[in-house]
Amino acid sequence: MFCTTPLRHTLVDLGMSPLCESYVTAGQLNQMERFYPLHVFLCEQCFLAQLHQYVSAESIFSEYAYFSSYSESWVEHAKRYAAMIAKRLSLGAQSLVIEVASNDGYLLQHFLPRGIPVLGIEPAANVAAVAESHGIPTLVKFFGRSLAGELAAAGKIADLIVGNNVLAQVPDINDFVGGINTLLGARGVATLEFPHLMRLMAENQFDTIYHEHFSYFSFLTVERIFAAHGMKLVDVEELPTHGGSLRIYARHIGDHTEPTSDTVIALREKEQEAGVRSLEHYSSFADNVKATKRKLLDFLIGAKQKGLTIAGYGAPGKGNTLLNYCGIRTDFVDYTVDRNTYKQGKYLPGTHIPILHPDTIKQTKPDLILILPWNVKEEIMAQLSYIREWGGRFLVPIPEVRVYS
Ligand SMILES: [Zn+2]
Repeated sequence: MFCTTPLRHTLVDLGMSPLCESYVTAGQLNQMERFYPLHVFLCEQCFLAQLHQYVSAESIFSEYAYFSSYSESWVEHAKRYAAMIAKRLSLGAQSLVIEVASNDGYLLQHFLPRGIPVLGIEPAANVAAVAESHGIPTLVKFFGRSLAGELAAAGKIADLIVGNNVLAQVPDINDFVGGINTLLGARGVATLEFPHLMRLMAENQFDTIYHEHFSYFSFLTVERIFAAHGMKLVDVEELPTHGGSLRIYARHIGDHTEPTSDTVIALREKEQEAGVRSLEHYSSFADNVKATKRKLLDFLIGAKQKGLTIAGYGAPGKGNTLLNYCGIRTDFVDYTVDRNTYKQGKYLPGTHIPILHPDTIKQTKPDLILILPWNVKEEIMAQLSYIREWGGRFLVPIPEVRVYS
């Protein structure tokens, strides 16, 4: 929560779902599993779309199964970003780049060859250890005002703070953004990337809603949150990543190094015109979500009636929301595969679809591959182009149910 207004409006209710990163081991298959409501509320005052927090951030993020470096396109995105921002901010040996939720060092690694000092902050010890082994100093901690204060007191003030896909995942948004204000140098810049709520709704990306994502933002709402913590957004980019993200550039309110960009002014106007600050703007989303569920089930039922075999590709968090909400289990999808060895041999939470090695696809030759991380579908279809040898096709569920030969 950002403001204290009681939450009265539903954006969408996806029913009960397990935590999407709680992969099930063979030994746990016969045990009870915890399900929590996946019910997104909308605040009528600040228009922050948000989930109630049912579990502590510690229990979600202390051991995390997501290793950013497993996605080639995401590492490439990070590499391009590092080159761009190092030039834009003239970063050098005297600078300090701090990344919050630095994961396995997929991003900070690109600053090292430029001789720019870096510090990662990552609460999941298992992924932080991978970053350390690549020479990236990483604190295994949660970020907020307290840690920012400790670092600032120790003279660690950032010229650049990076936060990619973390703003939506922090349970206390005020503590997090307040921490950025504390840690950021007087002329420093913080860039954050997060899914854009407007795109999420326009393209039915309801599967990016899961318990680990507490907040869903419009630009206007983020601008309001940063302003409440003494910062302003001087620039913004609309990115194709994760189905449509924003990359915001924040500075201290008193820092006049650069003027507010035209893209900020244009996006403000675009959101105002779309009605982002009115409840009506949000009213059709829930119906669109239900329609997508019916279309996907309709297609899968038809495919099974024809005797087709279906395998999944990937075991991302978004896949678990989709499969649990739609009730898709091994009655439709025989198995899924993932390159992440941490996930192989385990089962998807709730649906208990087995996660196998990608080579299983070559061995079993399924007719259809349901691509769960649809945001990187081009990358996956290129990797799996060999399924055409046996007439295999790809099924992409979002933004619309579509088959690719
Ligand atoms: Zn509010």
